[in-house]
Amino acid sequence: MTREFQVQGIPVSDLADEFGTPLFVYDGEVLRDRFQGLRDRLHPAMEIFYSLKANPNVSVCALLHSLGARAEVSSLVELRTALLAGVDPQDVIFLGPGKSRRELAACLDEGVYAIVCESLPELAEIDRLARERGLRAPVALRVNPSFAVKRSGLAMGGKPRQFGIDEEQLFAEHGLAERFPGVDLMGVQVYMGTRILSEDVVVENTTRILDLADRVCAHLGVEPRMVDVGGGLGVGYFAGEPDLDPAVLTERLNPVVDAFADRHPGTRLIMELGRYLTAESGTYVVAVRYVKTSMGERFAVTDGGTHHHMAAVGIGSFVKRNFPMAALTRMDEPATEEWNVTGPLCTPNDTLAKKAELPPVRPGDLLGVLRSGAYGPTASPVLFLSHGYPAEVLVDEGRAHLVRERDRPEDLLTRQRLYDPAVPVTAGA
Ligand SMILES: *Cc1c(COP(=O)(O)O)cnc(C)c1O
Repeated sequence: MTREFQVQGIPVSDLADEFGTPLFVYDGEVLRDRFQGLRDRLHPAMEIFYSLKANPNVSVCALLHSLGARAEVSSLVELRTALLAGVDPQDVIFLGPGKSRRELAACLDEGVYAIVCESLPELAEIDRLARERGLRAPVALRVNPSFAVKRSGLAMGGKPRQFGIDEEQLFAEHGLAERFPGVDLMGVQVYMGTRILSEDVVVENTTRILDLADRVCAHLGVEPRMVDVGGGLGVGYFAGEPDLDPAVLTERLNPVVDAFADRHPGTRLIMELGRYLTAESGTYVVAVRYVKTSMGERFAVTDGGTHHHMAAVGIGSFVKRNFPMAALTRMDEPATEEWNVTGPLCTPNDTLAKKAELPPVRPGDLLGVLRSGAYGPTASPVLFLSHGYPAEVLVDEGRAHLVRERDRPEDLLTRQRLYDPAVPVTAGA
C-alpha cells in the first residue's frame, strides 16, 4: 500500500470516491492556522478583512468570519455571500472601480460600514443615491498614491490605473465635503498590489499609506475614522519563493500601527487579505485519465485543467512556472520522472504543470495542485469547453462537507436559449 495524502485524517481517495474529481478540497485547520497565526501577533487595532475575491465560497467565508474576519466585497453577490456567512454589515466594506447603481444602492440599504469610492464621478453618484434616501453615505476614498510599490507581483497603485483617485488630483480638489453633503467622508483606502513576499515592503507600504491618510484627511478637513492599508500579502508558490513570516512581519509592522493608533485612537484600521488567508488551505485534486508520451516527453492527461486553475490569474505574468504539485496517491514514492500534467481542454495552454518531478504515474492516480485555495475556479474560465465549475469540499473538525456542487450539464444548458426564427419577438421580451 502506498501512502496517501490525507486531509485531517481523511484519505484523499475517500474524498474523490465520495465527491468525484476534479475537486477542490479546503482544509479548515489550515485556514484557522493562517488566520490565527497572524491575528494572534498583529496589533489589536488592525482589523483583518477577508477579500472574498480570493475565494468567494460562502463556507470558507463563514469559517474565517467565525474566527473574527470581517469582509471586503466587490460585487452584489460577494456582498450577499458575506451577509449569508453571517458577517455584520458594519463589518463589510464594498470596493471596486465600476460599481453599479444597484450595488451602491445595496450598500446603502444594507448599511455596510463603508463604500470605498474609486473616482469623483462615483462620488457624485453615491451622493445622489444617498440624498434620495435621506441618508449620508459612509465613504472612504481610494487613493492612487504618487509612490509605487517595489517588488509586488502585480501593482495596483502608483501607476496610471482605473483604481482610485490620483493623490495629485485629490489634493487639487477643494471643499469635497461641502460639495457632496450626502457623503460622509470617513477616511482613506490604498491598495498597492498583490503577491507581496517581503515583510519590509509591507511595512514600508503601510508606513507611507498611514502618512498619506493623515495628509488626505487633513486636506479634506475630516478626522480619519477609517484607514484601510490594503494588504496584498503573498504566499510562495514557485521554487525559491519565500513565505512571509508572520512573526517577523508583525514585529516590524506593529510599531508603525501603534504610532498611528496613538495619534488617532478612534480610527478603525483595516487590512484586506485574500490569498494570504486561503491559498495554503486548498488542494486541486485531479485524476489521471491517460498517460502517454509525445516526442520523448511524458504526459499525464487528467480530468482537471486550467479551466479550474488558471495559475496565471492574479500573478501578473503568463510565464508558466509550476505550482507545487504532488502525486497524492503515491506520497512515499520518489519523484524520479518528469511529467507534463495536462487537462481535457483543446488548447496546448491547458497545462497544469510542465516537466513536474513526480513518481511514475498511472491512470487512476490522483494528483494535487497544492496551495490552490485562492484564485482557483472563480478566477478561471470555468465555462471553457462547457465543463463548468468543479465541486468544492471543506474539511473541518475531521468531517468533509460539500460546500459547492459540481455544475451538471443541465445547469449549464439551462442558461441558454434555443431561438425559433418562426416566432416573432417583441422588444424587451
Ligand atoms: C484583489 C484585492 C485584494 C485581495 O488581494 P490578495 O492579494 O488576494 O490579498 C484586496 N484588496 C483589493 C483592493 C484587491 O483588489
